[in-house]
Amino acid sequence: MNQILLVSAFIFLVSCSSQKRLERMQESISNSRENAQVEFDKIDAASVAADVEYLSSDALAGRDTGSKGINLAAYYLQEQFQQMKIEPFFESYRDLFQVEGKDAFNVVAMLPGTDREMQKEIVVIGAHYDHIGMVQAVAGDSIANGANDNATGTATVMAMAKILKQADFNRRTVVFALFSAEEKGLLGSKHLAQRMKQDGHDVVAMLNFEMTGTPMVNRPYLAYLTGHDLSNMAEVFNTSNIQRQVTGKLDQAATYNLFMRSDNYPFYNAFQVPAQTFSTFDFTNFDHYHKVGDEFALVDTSHMAELINALMPGVFAVVNGDRLIMKPTADE
Ligand SMILES: [Zn+2]
Repeated sequence: MNQILLVSAFIFLVSCSSQKRLERMQESISNSRENAQVEFDKIDAASVAADVEYLSSDALAGRDTGSKGINLAAYYLQEQFQQMKIEPFFESYRDLFQVEGKDAFNVVAMLPGTDREMQKEIVVIGAHYDHIGMVQAVAGDSIANGANDNATGTATVMAMAKILKQADFNRRTVVFALFSAEEKGLLGSKHLAQRMKQDGHDVVAMLNFEMTGTPMVNRPYLAYLTGHDLSNMAEVFNTSNIQRQVTGKLDQAATYNLFMRSDNYPFYNAFQVPAQTFSTFDFTNFDHYHKVGDEFALVDTSHMAELINALMPGVFAVVNGDRLIMKPTADE
């Protein structure tokens, strides 16, 4: 075969595969299993680590709402969105509200849906980025760094934003929301959920991430889902990933009513749609909850990257496939 034939054969192959890709994109995806086929650039541990390390550094002094440290965190997140070319959801990235007379702000960005009809439907992917700031000193350390709680959830949202932007395959609009004042009583998520409701936005699902920095031991799944039986979210994530069980039910989540204790809950209240939290903190695998010892060194970023990559087929299913549904019987 001569050079010209080789080149034209190559061009033929390339155009064939991109044509196929286009057809696949245009196809209506109703079966979540099909989303397992979506190709995406996997996130690596180093990229996740960079976010967790900065957000939990002493320079940010525990990211208390209204502090200088959380302002630095917000600048960092805005800059990341800008670099990724992901636009603000409102006029600016900051969604302002007041807490005890101080300015507080969620950081909110958006990836417009690629389907003209489905883009009206919004999937919110969120995590709180605030923490509790300075606490009583232990051995000279008074900074509650909040690495696991919740620099990890924040880094998870940023990684998913990066993957979704690169994949360029989200038929629904995706809103990335980093909440402030979660530690003061879910104030940031309450504010944003109510604002989106008032503005008439059609939120169809909310995926929230809390404390995903340490792996669970001896469980068949990677992360548990709060409000596990409230919707078909767990099934969709598990059927979308053909390689392994991604999520499951943790009994303590119901005992401690975790469904109502994180930023998913205000979205459930406002929109009555599946709005749930993924976490890997199971009360046995982390001893530094709200303590000065919650530091970057204890976060397992390989586990985080593994979890994010395993969750992505489910994320593509939620963003492109059938709408998630609530179940009639609820025990959480
Ligand atoms: Zn938290």
